[in-house]
Amino acid sequence: MIAAEADAWDRAGTLPVDLLRGLGAEGRLCAQVPAAYGGWGLDSAAAGAFTAHVGSLCSSVRSVMTSQGMAAWTIERFATPEQQAAFLPRLTGGELAAAGFSERAAGSDLSAMTTRVRRDGDTVVLDGHKVWVTAAHYADLLVVFGKYAEDAFHAEAGSEAGSGAAGGDDAVAVVVPADTPGVRVTRVADPLGCRAAGHADISLDGVRVPATHVLGGAALPLPLLVTTALAYGRMSVAWGCVGILRGCLTAAARHAATREQFGAPLGEHQLVARHLAELYVAERTATRACEHASRCWDEGSPEQVVATVLAKHVSAGNAARGAATAVQVLASAGAQDGHPVARAHRDAKLMEIIEGSNEMCQLMLARHVLGSA
Ligand code: FAD
Repeated sequence: MIAAEADAWDRAGTLPVDLLRGLGAEGRLCAQVPAAYGGWGLDSAAAGAFTAHVGSLCSSVRSVMTSQGMAAWTIERFATPEQQAAFLPRLTGGELAAAGFSERAAGSDLSAMTTRVRRDGDTVVLDGHKVWVTAAHYADLLVVFGKYAEDAFHAEAGSEAGSGAAGGDDAVAVVVPADTPGVRVTRVADPLGCRAAGHADISLDGVRVPATHVLGGAALPLPLLVTTALAYGRMSVAWGCVGILRGCLTAAARHAATREQFGAPLGEHQLVARHLAELYVAERTATRACEHASRCWDEGSPEQVVATVLAKHVSAGNAARGAATAVQVLASAGAQDGHPVARAHRDAKLMEIIEGSNEMCQLMLARHVLGSA
């Protein structure tokens, strides 16, 4: 069903919400959530294999999975047991979620975030503007990252949660129902790729939710909050890119084996054969990088962070180049909307921007190298 409809959804720029809710209710959109909360309790390797499969069919559905998983992971990591029991079953029960960090002036540099969260009695009030939030158009729950605005919230929340109020605890992640008064969700018009993933900007204008929606009940350092959420997103995107590469490899190989020019199948012309070899190397290398990173997650290895950045960087770059190569092999046959390699080409390019752009990944990898020198 997903493979057959992916192109139509891409052209329409929308996914059937019933399908998303159905996948969500089966726990498929965040399969790493423990079974106790209605998930499948998959480890990173198994969740990755599933993500790659979905990514090979439709990057928009895979993007929605990544967002749902990122929201669930943030809740798993930072929420109190009561909050986990309140929110996770909703994410495995058919409700949809998105995670909002980025702002117009805070893209690569999330420390420039200006969304403010202030405590007011038993509630918190959010003001700010998030941009390009994947799946926000479909979401029932928004996990919003912001800076806490007042000492009162920090002091009260810190003492309640027993977290201490050390300097640098400047941010919170808040679960905001999308239908809360003051929330306005506006679709990003005509995205280059993943066109049906429901990217949207979110305005938060005096949005009031119970203080129990602040994950963990306390402020934390912004880098800790966003890096934790992004690490999940990176792993998911990396596996999604493996899926893009597999789809492209299959399409390119099939075309090169069957279409003839100059009296021979394309694949027998050495320059085309080289394209196939390069695509194969790209898919295998990305797969190995993802397998290694997932192993690090599953073993709790200290290498997990750098292995995840490496996997994301390798997979996204390989997918962008690999999809371009696939279009080259198919030429006019793959140069139109309606062909999976054309869609892959657009989708893959965006993977070099999100969850840490190529440049941000390179800077993180360079810092790792310098740190271990
Ligand atoms: P900028 O930060 O302005 O960067 C522009 C270019 O400059 C990039 O190439 C960048 O790598 C480079 N650059 C910036 N600083 C440096 C530096 N110090 N050194 C070297 N190079 C640098 N946000 C969310 O919160 N939630 C989502 O679900 C989400 N989904 C997204 C989905 C898509 C398809 C896209 C396109 C974006 C999404 N975003 C989301 C936003 C995304 O996280 C940002 O686009 C990304 O962080 C880059 O920020 P920017 O676009 O503002 O680019």
